[in-house]
Amino acid sequence: MTRTTSRAWRETNLSALAHNARTIQSALAPGCRLMAVVKADAYGHGALPVARRLEAMGIKDFAVACLEEGITLRRSGIRGTILILGYTPPELASQLHRWKLTQTVADAAHGQALAACRLPLPVHLALDTGMHRLGIPAEDHNALRRLYELPGMHVEGVFSHLCVSDSLSPENTAFTRLQLERFYEALRWLKEHHLAPGETHIQASYGIWNLPPQPCSLARAGIALYGVCSDDSPIVRTLDLTPVLSLRARVTCVRTLAPREGAGYGLAFRADQPRQLAVVAIGYADGLPRSLPQQGGEVLLHRMRCPMVGRMCMDQLLVDVTGLPGVTPGDAATLIGTDGQQQIHVEDIAQQCGTITNEILSRLGTRLPIITTE
Ligand SMILES: *Cc1c(COP(=O)(O)O)cnc(C)c1O
Repeated sequence: MTRTTSRAWRETNLSALAHNARTIQSALAPGCRLMAVVKADAYGHGALPVARRLEAMGIKDFAVACLEEGITLRRSGIRGTILILGYTPPELASQLHRWKLTQTVADAAHGQALAACRLPLPVHLALDTGMHRLGIPAEDHNALRRLYELPGMHVEGVFSHLCVSDSLSPENTAFTRLQLERFYEALRWLKEHHLAPGETHIQASYGIWNLPPQPCSLARAGIALYGVCSDDSPIVRTLDLTPVLSLRARVTCVRTLAPREGAGYGLAFRADQPRQLAVVAIGYADGLPRSLPQQGGEVLLHRMRCPMVGRMCMDQLLVDVTGLPGVTPGDAATLIGTDGQQQIHVEDIAQQCGTITNEILSRLGTRLPIITTE
């Protein structure tokens, strides 16, 4: 366990990240490259250390959600392609140009507004194949042609996004097939009309797990890169991935409660018999779901599982350590990760709180410093 004086911290294991990147890359079709999705501070893992390590191992394609995330990576010296997956207001096109960022064209009007800025801009066209979030309708060939004709637009890629590829139900796999057909049909039409699509990509993590390798030049992996699944839905092709993130916090106090004494807000915890509680210095302002203690949340302390009790505070929480000798202020508690034989998976927390790991990880607050490990 890493030495730090912090009250609470994230640990990003860069060799696990590199292992996951290699594993995902080897699951793609020959000629298809991994595009590393590092939006939301690399799902809470730290966009800079993550992108730096991936770039050092030869990955040249990155995706972020918004302009600011792209600029942050460039300022820190990331040189590869950085695709902004979300909308950038056309008024900020000069920033795209200045920082050599690649912009997604969200729809025909967005493309026209970007072109009106009269700057050469590398773009990827988002095609809507059924998700109805961003994208030009894949069958709207005229709109596609007009975007190619706009001055300054350098179409360097065409992509789409699958919205039910995490599900193996017959209905959803049929919908995914339909999305793929619409996508490849649009690519065929472009080629027939001598409009070069450039890079092509449609798989995200669940597309990689649940589809055969696709004849595209890129695959956008987010959650899989970080070594976890979004939830516990079954997948077709399990890959040998390792969780990258651990989350730890210090014990600050240990106290004994007499029978019938309560603890925490609302005195929500009540001692039925003498109890020992440890106060751990992390709370919901750090991104943990406030309901976690009531949903069966645990921490690892001295290689043992200890239940969270009472109400989580903004910056602290209570753990029942009755019968566990030697718990001392300064001890590191593990909220996500491994301690001895015991492990807490972020999947468990997500399931307990009725959400997906992507949400839990991406909300881990910037107040938690990131320590990289190997
Ligand atoms: C966030 C995002 C991804 C990554 O999704 P994962 O399921 O985490 O792999 C890929 N593509 C787009 C368009 C996204 O917005």
